[in-house]
Amino acid sequence: MTAKILSGKEIAEAIKREVAAEVALITERHGVRPLLAVVRVGEDPASAVYVGSKVKTSEELGMLSEHHHLPVEATHEEVLAIVKDLNARPEVDGILVQLPLPAQVDEREILETIDPAKDVDGFHPVNVGKLSQGQKSLVPCTPAGVIEILKRSEIPIAGAHAVVIGRSNIVGKPMAQLLLQENATVTVCHSRTKDLPAVAATGDILVAAIGRAGFVRAAHIKPGACVIDVGINNVSDPAQAAELFGPDEIEKRLNTIAKRGFTLVGDVNPKEAKEKAGAFTPVPGGVGLLTVAMLMKNTVEAAKMRRKL
Ligand code: NDP
Repeated sequence: MTAKILSGKEIAEAIKREVAAEVALITERHGVRPLLAVVRVGEDPASAVYVGSKVKTSEELGMLSEHHHLPVEATHEEVLAIVKDLNARPEVDGILVQLPLPAQVDEREILETIDPAKDVDGFHPVNVGKLSQGQKSLVPCTPAGVIEILKRSEIPIAGAHAVVIGRSNIVGKPMAQLLLQENATVTVCHSRTKDLPAVAATGDILVAAIGRAGFVRAAHIKPGACVIDVGINNVSDPAQAAELFGPDEIEKRLNTIAKRGFTLVGDVNPKEAKEKAGAFTPVPGGVGLLTVAMLMKNTVEAAKMRRKL
């Protein structure tokens, strides 16, 4: 069997087009442009790339954006003051604090200070609680993106057995809640799950959010399952790459390692998924592309809900 590849590119582009149309409509009818404010502390290179892409995309879609960049030695109080100021400004619709934060900044207090109505990452306990009660809320972008991939690829969710590997607050847990809301029967696995391959292999839908390159092997996959790979890992060892990629892709990957020092790999072994799954998302080019698109969607949602448009 050769699995179908579920590309995130077209889906992310479609969502961005829909958001742009909605922004244009809100601007025309109500004279407002949704505003996304992003707060970044320090010089983490990955955070700089993520924030840059969030700011650029929001502007491309017709929204306003602000980038508040503080030095790595910024105090907890300084970050808190920025968040409180953004909460108080009525023209700000979405606030995103890019993680990780330096050790002296209390991440939990910062995230809990964000006005839940402006919490476009969906990490505030009020939004987490609403999601678990099935109320309308701002939902974490990555798991929301997975649901978009499943729905727009016409993968049946209702009645399916969905297995989620990972139980983090930003991916695994909200993923399980969203799948439950879509009427899947959901199993959540983690590092203490016994006989993980056997449990995973009962999933019609298998979501991997673990943080270990190529962790999900053929033994974890039910024949014909839909495998969603949330993981983003760097692989720099050519021998490890050879375990993960077949003849169709290995040359390209080895070239990338030679050029950049690493290649991006998910939590699923793509060579084995291709043989056994019915469909799977590639890395890069899968779930990752949806995260920014869903952030844009959340910002417009926040603007509509706050401003009662
Ligand atoms: P965390 O490290 O917070 O959570 C990882 C989860 O995987 C934990 O629940 C952990 O279990 C579980 N786990 C770890 N090792 C094993 C194991 N050997 N067997 C079973 N379960 C295991 O990671 P995140 O949820 O933040 O991220 C997961 C992956 O998704 C990462 O690769 C990350 O880079 C990627 N990611 C991608 C995004 C995107 O936009 N595509 C966005 C966010 C994350 P336990 O709780 O027991 O420790």
